[in-house]
Amino acid sequence: MNTLTVDIGGTKIAAGLVDSDGRLRFQTRQPTPKTDDPEQVWAAARRTIADTLGQAGGRVDGVGISSAGPIHLADGTISPVNIPAWRGFPIRERVAGVVPGARVCLGGDGLCMALGEHWRGAGQGAGFLLGMVVSTGIGGGLVLDGSPYSGRTGNAGHVGHVVVDSDGPPCSCGGRGCVEAIASGPHLAAWAREQGWAGDDAKALAEAAAAGDEIASRAFDRGARAIAAMIASVGAVCDLDLVIVGGGVAKAGPILFEPVRAALHSYAGLDFLTGLRVVPAELGGEAGLIGAAALVRRGPA
Ligand SMILES: [Zn+2]
Repeated sequence: MNTLTVDIGGTKIAAGLVDSDGRLRFQTRQPTPKTDDPEQVWAAARRTIADTLGQAGGRVDGVGISSAGPIHLADGTISPVNIPAWRGFPIRERVAGVVPGARVCLGGDGLCMALGEHWRGAGQGAGFLLGMVVSTGIGGGLVLDGSPYSGRTGNAGHVGHVVVDSDGPPCSCGGRGCVEAIASGPHLAAWAREQGWAGDDAKALAEAAAAGDEIASRAFDRGARAIAAMIASVGAVCDLDLVIVGGGVAKAGPILFEPVRAALHSYAGLDFLTGLRVVPAELGGEAGLIGAAALVRRGPA
């Protein structure tokens, strides 16, 4: 039987059906309403769920929810930074009300991405992996010893807030020197503009770097060093064998991956880190929907 999955983000809310082999069989989405009214946002989520449930003839073996963070696993609530209308929103209870009798599991979007890649994408066969996304922010999730690691509240794997420069720039989290405040797409582009580059965003920056623009190349090298420092740190803490990088900025391909891998050698000196691989994600935007189904199949959360 299929698993119904929901992926909640700041720009869209998607729902889908994932079969027992981890294949996405159906998908529908709605833009996330820009509103202060929590019920308007819920109405959009509910529509995607109702459409998907209709597609399945009302028969699903459970529901997996992937949500932007922070989340609170113990009470099944979410407070996504990019959805201000939802603070402490009781998503697990609401979804259970729409799909009566189904087991409903909740996970952070980083964790679900990592699980999706572990099941069907670049992480197949890896035992200890970090899945991470570099886009407007930097997020991630951990699969350790083959199992999702949620942490105490469900927020483990928030690698965007690993501090890589203790005197670094202020971060949106209230801290400073976080890798997100240096290497996220908007921060890469902002730094390049400060150096005299005239483009707009990280996509244009990647194109400029690929065309040989010197400032754009330096911006990627600088961001890649920050990402490599974070990867070395998390790799050492968790004894990882694989890091999977997805998200809009990772679409830059070798422009990002080559300097990350080169810098990683200078940060990851310990013997047990020499085999740590950094590879591109394979599932793109589908990873969260597929990973949320893995969450349902793996037991209580
Ligand atoms: Zn931070």
